[in-house]
Amino acid sequence: MKKIILSGMRPTGKLHLGHLAGALDNWVKLQKEYKCYFMVADWHALMGEYEDTSELSNNIIDNIIDWLSVGIDPDKSVLFVQSRIPQHLELHMVFSCITPLGLLERCPTYKEQLRQVSSRNLNTYGFLGYPVLQAADILLYRADKVPVGRDQLPHLELTREISRLFNNLYKKNVFPYPDAILTETPKLLGLDGRKMSKSYLNTINLSDDPPVITKKISTMFTDPKRIRLNDPGHPDTCNVFSYYAAFAPEAKDEVYNWCTGAKKGCTDCKRILAEKIIDKISPIQKKRAEFNKDRQAIKKLISKGNEDARETASKTMQDVFKAIKL
Ligand code: SF4
Repeated sequence: MKKIILSGMRPTGKLHLGHLAGALDNWVKLQKEYKCYFMVADWHALMGEYEDTSELSNNIIDNIIDWLSVGIDPDKSVLFVQSRIPQHLELHMVFSCITPLGLLERCPTYKEQLRQVSSRNLNTYGFLGYPVLQAADILLYRADKVPVGRDQLPHLELTREISRLFNNLYKKNVFPYPDAILTETPKLLGLDGRKMSKSYLNTINLSDDPPVITKKISTMFTDPKRIRLNDPGHPDTCNVFSYYAAFAPEAKDEVYNWCTGAKKGCTDCKRILAEKIIDKISPIQKKRAEFNKDRQAIKKLISKGNEDARETASKTMQDVFKAIKL
């Protein structure tokens, strides 16, 4: 039997190249080997962006269209929307009762987010419980593995801890102890060299038209020490070069040579990068346009995924209710 994987994305906006390199390319590979549950994490989106929910439902459909367009196969994987599966909240409630507050307050990403995000008030009851809901998401499907980046390892450890707490307290092995599949994804910054984020308007979206992509790439920051055309550049510190590494690795060596040997200017380098990125995402965009023509069909596909997810989730909750004698 195939091992189970759970992964998800918050529908907070259009998907961009960071999502492609950081998650989606990997999901496409994982679905060949594992039984995958891919979740649109709309409750998690609400936790962070509860003040403006106007785009949430459109984003859900758009995100799923992007997943399908990059090659996520609904015949192989279960694609579902978190809020349509009530068992996520039931299990979140049970876990909330047994999770010590200190575990959540010490969570490094919680403290970091509170420090970094000043545009929204995240000092809420719901946001503190974010990792508990995440544990419920993973354990509801009794996932064996979870693809994570290094920075998310503490969250997964918390999930394992909650699983241990539950199994020990109620003396039943209801939940597994999921392992991480460490995904080494390229560290991609936004076009302006800051963290890639839709709120900084520094992303290249999967839905951007070719002229938009070319224009956006032409504004990218390059090696600040390369002022004149005949100054040798430092590709290892140039953001443009990291995009080559992520999206056109076959051209990396050539770019390294022309940059360090001052054989080509940054304008040409960016123009060629734009062509390569357009080549890479144009098949995705063609599929995207096809899927977009029939959003009703996408809704049906999501309903089917929701049904499949609910079936698994309700089996787990039967075991949970039995264990807690409710
Ligand atoms: S030539 Fe390319 S890699 Fe080198 S500094 Fe310019 S943009 Fe960056």
